[in-house]
Amino acid sequence: MILDKNYLSRVEDIEYFPDTLRALRLLQELGFDLFVVTNQSGVGRGYFSLESVHTIHRQLQNDLREEKLEPFKDFAVCPHSPDENCDCRKPSGKMIQLLIDKYHLSKDQSYMIGDKAIDAESGKNAGITGLLVRTPARDGYPAFKTLLEFAESLKKK
Ligand SMILES: [Zn+2]
Repeated sequence: MILDKNYLSRVEDIEYFPDTLRALRLLQELGFDLFVVTNQSGVGRGYFSLESVHTIHRQLQNDLREEKLEPFKDFAVCPHSPDENCDCRKPSGKMIQLLIDKYHLSKDQSYMIGDKAIDAESGKNAGITGLLVRTPARDGYPAFKTLLEFAESLKKK
């Protein structure tokens, strides 16, 4: 979970919430594979290139490796602007569904967590649990204060 900068496109703008890496570590210790599912409409709008999105993702992988974490297993990117009416843009569940198929993930043991309702909704649309973080609970989706709080809640199960 990165601080949400609208149209993050420069590596030097990456900034993590303080407990994010701890949360990712705990999730990995619990046996979870981590994926990134992201709308990057800035590409479709011509604000930046898909290559710059890939550059950011490579940097995230390097950051995780540097922290002795497993890198993200995969990234799913919708590069389209809303006007393109694609079928992958969240809240569509399509990007998640493709990852589930590709990696044979168990829907029962998969979670989609994000700070926008469309994130949780995309999880629901793919048949997995959708959750919110850093935003109040809404539309029936449970919310956690931080990603770490979510990870801790799984540990207790
Ligand atoms: Zn798309």
